[in-house]
Amino acid sequence: MALRIGIAGAGVLGRLLAFTLSRAGHDVHVFDPASGPGPRAESGSQAAGWTAAGMLSPVAELERAGAEVFALGVRSCQLWPQIVQALSEPVALHMQGSLLLAHRSDAGAAQRVVGLLQAKADAPYQPQSLTMDALRALEPSIQGPAMAWLLTNEGQIHPIQALQALAAQGTLQGVQWHWGSTVTAVDAGAIHASEAQHHFDHVFDVRGVGAKPALPVRGVRGEVFWLHAPGVPLHRPVRLLHPRHSIYMVPRPGDVIVVGASEIESEDRSHVSLRSTLELLSAAHSVIPALAEARVVHTETNLRPALPDNLPAVLHSAGKTEINGLFRHGWLIAPALVEQALQELKL
Ligand SMILES: Cc1cc2nc3c(=O)[nH]c(=O)nc-3n(C[C@H](O)[C@H](O)[C@H](O)COP(=O)(O)OP(=O)(O)OC[C@H]3O[C@@H](n4cnc5c(N)ncnc54)[C@H](O)[C@@H]3O)c2cc1C
Repeated sequence: MALRIGIAGAGVLGRLLAFTLSRAGHDVHVFDPASGPGPRAESGSQAAGWTAAGMLSPVAELERAGAEVFALGVRSCQLWPQIVQALSEPVALHMQGSLLLAHRSDAGAAQRVVGLLQAKADAPYQPQSLTMDALRALEPSIQGPAMAWLLTNEGQIHPIQALQALAAQGTLQGVQWHWGSTVTAVDAGAIHASEAQHHFDHVFDVRGVGAKPALPVRGVRGEVFWLHAPGVPLHRPVRLLHPRHSIYMVPRPGDVIVVGASEIESEDRSHVSLRSTLELLSAAHSVIPALAEARVVHTETNLRPALPDNLPAVLHSAGKTEINGLFRHGWLIAPALVEQALQELKL
């Protein structure tokens, strides 16, 4: 039976829900304060998903996450290709593995992390140690590190393309997007928006950090840099294992490399700091010295939505479902979380 569904929030969760539910024949309405389906041109608050690097790293995330995030990540890596194939607009999705790298001076810290991943990951997901020759064959630009491991089942999605394509497909499937609409409360079967109250058979609250104070969600600041680096090839996401900084680089079309990300317990959305600039870009340069002449073409700051235990939550009550706390793994786990929530609701 076709239901009337309301969704508060048009981030990666809101758009995946709208895409999936409209595809199943439901009458779907989505509410979001954004002025439209694209990213904001000016700085300011917008979905965390726009800023994300889009790494799909179930194994590498095991350094900080547990079995639940790993299982959701593995499942999502199976679901993303099916989702992307069902979209009418192209979305870059690559599953050619990712690399863990370490400098010789950080061998101890790196071995600790790799040991942790080996203990936590199932057999097909074990990190594979690479010789430097093997590393150069995969990524000739990488010159600094002395140790490398390949995580074969990892990859990346282009978050900006994916958010736009999900919205476009939703429109084709009949989704009603209520842009410029701030939701003040979500109750059983009701969305209270700035302009009016709307009634539904079921509602989803997926407002990320905007779900405060209904949920004890907090924002965790992250800063990223876009480098334009023509002639510096990079084919897959790389992470530098470092005792102080957690730094990664992700290639995007157009000779762009996204360098990220700081992780700061602050809800400050202002511009990137000098400290983050020095630390992240120095680390990037230490991995790929040829980045010295890259141009910093864009910087961005955003807030990852995190619950007190830093774990995702799917909370059902009569007429309402809340999904939140995707923290630093939203692209990695959203498809599996949406699948799980809709199976539990039998939708
Ligand atoms: C710097 C950075 C790098 C990241 N890198 C990765 C990565 O490589 N891989 C990965 O898996 N994840 C990554 N993430 C995490 C990922 O982006 C988030 O986990 C994910 O975006 C959360 O999705 P969401 O839909 O819950 O929230 P959001 O994407 O934040 O979307 C929430 C939506 O709700 C809307 N909203 C807010 N308030 C209201 C309101 N009152 N009424 C209506 N709508 C409202 C917002 O406008 C927004 O559209 C990164 C995040 C950051 C910040």
